[in-house]
Amino acid sequence: MADRTVSERIQDFAEVDAGLSPEEAIAEAARCLQCKKPFCIEGCPVEIDIPAFLRCIEEGDFRSAIRIIKESNMLPAICGRVCPQEVQCEGECILGNKERAVAIGRLERFLADWEREHGPETPPVLEKRSERIAVVGSGPAGLTAAAECARNGFNVTIFEALHAPGGVLTYGIPGFRLPDDVVQAEIDEVRRLGVEIRTNYLVGRSIPVDELLAYDAIILATGAGLPAFMGIPGEHKVGVYSANEFLTRVNLMHASAFPAYDTPVKVGSHVVVIGGGNVAMDAARSARRLGAEVTLVYRRRRPDMPARRVEVEHAEEEGITFLTCTNPIEITGEEAVTGISVVKMDMCEPDDSGRPSAVPIPGSEYTIPADVVIEAIGQSPNPLLIEMIDGLVRENKGNLRVLEDGSTTVPRVFAAGDVATGAATVILAMGIAKKAAESVCRMFF
Ligand code: FAD
Ligand code: SF4
Repeated sequence: MADRTVSERIQDFAEVDAGLSPEEAIAEAARCLQCKKPFCIEGCPVEIDIPAFLRCIEEGDFRSAIRIIKESNMLPAICGRVCPQEVQCEGECILGNKERAVAIGRLERFLADWEREHGPETPPVLEKRSERIAVVGSGPAGLTAAAECARNGFNVTIFEALHAPGGVLTYGIPGFRLPDDVVQAEIDEVRRLGVEIRTNYLVGRSIPVDELLAYDAIILATGAGLPAFMGIPGEHKVGVYSANEFLTRVNLMHASAFPAYDTPVKVGSHVVVIGGGNVAMDAARSARRLGAEVTLVYRRRRPDMPARRVEVEHAEEEGITFLTCTNPIEITGEEAVTGISVVKMDMCEPDDSGRPSAVPIPGSEYTIPADVVIEAIGQSPNPLLIEMIDGLVRENKGNLRVLEDGSTTVPRVFAAGDVATGAATVILAMGIAKKAAESVCRMFF
């Protein structure tokens, strides 16, 4: 796919990738070998019938192709843009062994964009039933669980704490990777199945837990919105953000348009972002678009970064400076941030994660000037609602104890997405959400 030029794209938050034309899509789909044993499906957590939709594209029958995808995935425009296909369906594609895997993600995106232009392909819904299902959280897990339950005839209500639905898709991932109108169009599709979405409903506060538990089944999909901090001196200073707060201000609250919108954001001339995942790349690239010089500090080597390769490449193209094998030790300044002291790291034997452990090199400390520091070193599930429901058990990472079928330790209460697995990916959140919805259906059918 053609990317917008760097000088153009760092001026705004519009999407970087342009998408495939119909001719390009047909040519790419025609590369598929229609394998008898399609490994690509095994690599897809929601098990889309990939060869079947590729064949329809090859034949120019885009409507049948999107219909096949929607059987398994109600959020194809989102997944086509942000899923790490290189380690999932495309990672398993047999053609990857010889030349280049079929660009399954780009083709999924192409179809979803075609559908938005040519009218929705809403899947059929079974006859209406009497049971009421409550879903807490409207991120990819909540939307998927709700859609699956609604398709089976249940009355489904999603409760969302924020004023807009979508979870991380709306408040976290910036528009240059995932435009808001794309997200909202797919949420509208979930509504078309009959799902009601009540925003500004913080379950546990604006609706008591007793009221939630009065539903016939409950699916918790509250995500992993609690940011981790490094615990180094100076984190209380003005100008230190978690990536979650920074991105929420910029994306959901439109802080870059302050004072037209109420929420401001401080950027200054030099921003330091700590971390090497997708969240760190999103924060760095957003700060760059707000006019700052940006340095990204990561304690391991560049190949160890957990971010998608394409995001790392885009960040580098856009002028983000990478300081790898470097770890922050103190944020400096009086009341406000003026810099960040770091130490160089030596790479030693692999640790439990399989990546080399990073050890500080004595005497290699120095200070980088900074007006703003953004920490993007991970997040975990927020314990507030979990602690209000008697009988739920949390694991060490803060996630809920959940069986493979999405059931928790409390009858009729299921969980899906990051709250069940710890911070993961959109498609893994959707995969477990489908399992939780299947378990709900089994309870009543
Ligand atoms: P979320 O998307 O977090 O949604 C949870 C929702 O629950 C939120 O809207 C929250 O407001 C709501 N909620 C919480 N508590 C309550 C309550 N008590 N009452 C009512 N509502 C409540 N994954 C990828 O696959 N590819 C990427 O490129 C990628 N980039 C990312 C970039 C960023 C900046 C972040 C933060 C994450 C990224 N991820 C990416 C991870 C991915 O977004 C998450 O794994 C996924 O969103 C988890 O989905 P979820 O539905 O479990 O939770
Ligand atoms: Fe087509 Fe690749 Fe899947 Fe085989 S593995 S069916 S070539 S997409």
